[in-house]
Amino acid sequence: MLNKSVECDSCQKEMNVDDIKVHEESFGVDLSKRYWNCIHCDYEYLITINDTETRAIEEVINNDNREIQSIAKSAQWLANRRRLSQKQMNRNLKRARSLKNKIEQNKVKLDKLQRKLINEYI
Ligand SMILES: [Zn+2]
Repeated sequence: MLNKSVECDSCQKEMNVDDIKVHEESFGVDLSKRYWNCIHCDYEYLITINDTETRAIEEVINNDNREIQSIAKSAQWLANRRRLSQKQMNRNLKRARSLKNKIEQNKVKLDKLQRKLINEYI
């Protein structure tokens, strides 16, 4: 079973993760922070800090994820109509694998840059 509740470090009260709202706020020249607050005591939890570069990487990751979803969706559509050839399936798998690798690499890069931003500004 999934544990969907978290305990606040500040007030020690529990809350359901579904009740947590993520906020985004701009600061500085091109920076933004993503954070959430405890629903009981308002204690702020920083998720990450972004700048123009990290936002661009996030967008690339999101687009690649969307492409994987769309490949899977159209493959399913064709498969349901028995029109998905082995050749097309192999092509889809190859594309999806290469996208996944690209996403993993971008996530590592993004994580590194965001950590650097957090260290600089917090
Ligand atoms: Zn709290």
